[in-house]
Amino acid sequence: MAAAWQDVVRDAAAVREAAAVAVDAALLAGVLMRTGEQPNASDVVNYAPFTLLPSAVPRALFEQAYAVQQDFNLLVDAVSQNKEFLEQTLASTIKVDDFTAQLFRIYKQVLEEGLAQTVFLGINRSDYMFDCGLEGAAALRQIEINTIAASFGGLTSRTADVHRLVLNVLGKSEEASQLLPNNPAKGLALGIAKAWELYGSQRAVVMFLVEEVQRNIFDQRCVENELWNRNIRVVRKRFRDVFEQGSLDASRRLYMDGQEVAVVYYREGYVPQVYDEQNWEARLLLERSRAVKCPDIATQLAGTKKVQQELSRPGTLEKLLPGHPEAITRIRATFAGLYSLDEGEEGDRIAATAIADPDRFVLKPQREGGGNNLYGEELREVLEKIKDSPERTSYILMDKIKPQPALNYLLRAHSPLQVSECISELGIFGVYVRQGRELVLNQAAGHLLRTKAIEHADGGVAAGVAVLDTPFLV
Ligand code: ADP
Ligand code: MG
Repeated sequence: MAAAWQDVVRDAAAVREAAAVAVDAALLAGVLMRTGEQPNASDVVNYAPFTLLPSAVPRALFEQAYAVQQDFNLLVDAVSQNKEFLEQTLASTIKVDDFTAQLFRIYKQVLEEGLAQTVFLGINRSDYMFDCGLEGAAALRQIEINTIAASFGGLTSRTADVHRLVLNVLGKSEEASQLLPNNPAKGLALGIAKAWELYGSQRAVVMFLVEEVQRNIFDQRCVENELWNRNIRVVRKRFRDVFEQGSLDASRRLYMDGQEVAVVYYREGYVPQVYDEQNWEARLLLERSRAVKCPDIATQLAGTKKVQQELSRPGTLEKLLPGHPEAITRIRATFAGLYSLDEGEEGDRIAATAIADPDRFVLKPQREGGGNNLYGEELREVLEKIKDSPERTSYILMDKIKPQPALNYLLRAHSPLQVSECISELGIFGVYVRQGRELVLNQAAGHLLRTKAIEHADGGVAAGVAVLDTPFLV
């Protein structure tokens, strides 16, 4: 795997020339981000970070990841509808994790009132690394599944063109021609459009629920513009706007300043810091409404690390997906070792094992967005401190995946051009729409490859660690 571009990767002159071409190609193609200095202005923009070279990905694992995506869509949808499972699974977590507890309170409140929403839209991204085991052959291992605000489906729709050009510049036109087309933005928009259509009001709009700071707006615009091109109106609003302008009518239709909203697409709302009292109120209003939430609060809860860990327990998938033995086999084949830290003997034992050998594990709290997990010495210290307290149950433990590194260049504005040892994470986008009990759409919508230097244990593109990449299948 590591040797795909061995001949050029150390050729300084060729690399320099290709990097200059690559950066301009990225700007031309729209692989863009707003700047840290002016995060809410489009007057000054820069290219989003990306690799100079596409990274080698084993074809069999790539195909395996695509083949299991519809199964994961089914599974997430099943979990989101299973009150008993969510309640049992999150019972210990919500005693100690305030954020999950507050989401859970809204979930319960909305259920008790009775759901007004009848159409459901899921957009998720299942992320994997390629674990290189002792036997040599790499294995596909799921890192997590993101059920809210899974990003970079827009920008990554444009990176393959950039990498194709780079390979041509480097005299590798044969390899360039093998890069796969990829357009998650189109697939995500298709799902949103379907949900909008089933909601059934021509006048109603799609509302993108966006952050206060919108550096990654171009990624969202890719999806947004696909909707405009289908003659579906899109508005961009923040929680603050919902608090000020949002209301429900007697049948719980959602209005923003008098304009009906058919679909709420969250690109915000997954970290505790964004929620003050008013924003929680806004979230509750949205969840109570008839509008199609992507995701609804149950589906957000289905994406927690605690749920992921419980799914790996023997027998759980069989209960959640009765009648789908083949899907279960495909799903389970991607699981890494996951361990509960709930109070009791099982948790005591694994905590002791991880303290003794922290490099085998990752310690994960119930958070999203990168930079929250603990590794190595830090893992040991934290676990030592909380091992006898209930706080332990707000975390899970996971086997650490160890991919084979490869050399590449991470192109970042204002950073020197230097070779790095890198590892990659493959994400597959999934989209599904359910009307009542009937699944009317269930698809894989494209992929995302993100690559980072090995010295960073954690972190995605938005966190400034990983960069966009394109898989080169080998
Ligand atoms: P988040 O919700 O913050 O994205 P993730 O579970 O995706 O949480 O972890 C963040 C990053 O940490 C991943 O993108 C990956 O680089 C690294 N990571 C997470 N789990 C593992 C693991 N089991 N082995 C190796 N690296 C991991
Ligand atoms: Mg992640």
